Amino acid sequence: MSENGVLSRFWLWELTRPAFEDWLANDPAPVVIIGIGAIEQHAVHLPLGCDSIGVARFVHDVAEKTNSVCLHPTWAGYSPHHMEFSGTVTYSHETLLNILLDTIRSLAYHGVKRFVLINYHGGNENIMKLAAQIAKREYHVMVATPHGPDNTELSKKIKERMQRYLEVHSCARETSYALHYFPELVEMWRLEDWENPTLIPDYLLEFLNPDRPDYEMVSQIFNASIGPDTHDITKTGQYSINDPRTATKEEGDAMAAEVTQFLVDFINTWKKLPVPPAYRDECECGDPDCHEEHGDDCGCGGEGPCHDHKDGDA
Ligand SMILES: [Zn+2]
Ligand SMILES: [Zn+2]
Repeated sequence: MSENGVLSRFWLWELTRPAFEDWLANDPAPVVIIGIGAIEQHAVHLPLGCDSIGVARFVHDVAEKTNSVCLHPTWAGYSPHHMEFSGTVTYSHETLLNILLDTIRSLAYHGVKRFVLINYHGGNENIMKLAAQIAKREYHVMVATPHGPDNTELSKKIKERMQRYLEVHSCARETSYALHYFPELVEMWRLEDWENPTLIPDYLLEFLNPDRPDYEMVSQIFNASIGPDTHDITKTGQYSINDPRTATKEEGDAMAAEVTQFLVDFINTWKKLPVPPAYRDECECGDPDCHEEHGDDCGCGGEGPCHDHKDGDA
């Protein structure tokens, strides 16, 4: 439902067409949030849909707080590196890129100018960034891929753990997130006999030390040298060298609260700005400066999107 531009449901697929149109016409700067996740093995204790279930909860929380519409156009993502562990579903990189581009293009066609892409799976990251780059140029829409915060006590602590213990996948950090978003799907009892599962050779493990003066260089050598697939790196599918049983719901609550607030602030600040000329639709009158000069009172009499959609005339 949407009344005078104010949503009471936030998933795109739960809105009627008139509700979507009401939101688009009356929200001062409509934002669509697109979540991207994965269906892939998550060691022994986290669900296969961990990344997608998490991103869905996250984008919906943010949409509720910013009067945005959200969707996650696919459950699976780009996960070829996890294929040796069962339960993984992967798209090719072309498929995921096209899903993102087709989703943005469809909603751009209906007049949405501001998109936020949120990714919960590392394997999707480069594809998401490429989709944003292409969509901005091809569809004349703004596409943000926000990330943060990086400067709080908690985020610094987590970053330090990621550097020192390679907390990437099914690790303490991700388990804390899972305990916040979907504790009912986490099977901690499967970690009873946990042992460090790493297959990374010692000469590379030495590089996981942010106290080293040459850390900037050797951490990049580390990334260049480890195997491309998860089964090159870990026996169990857990991609980190510390114990995921150290995860806590409290840490997950705190991380989720901080990241949610960051994105809410990002969207609310962004919404106050007008659509820059590069992203405005060309007016039917053919005058490229039409919006600049005439704004809402453009006198060309055409029925192009610039006249319908006041966002473009801000
Ligand atoms: Zn994950
Ligand atoms: Zn993942």
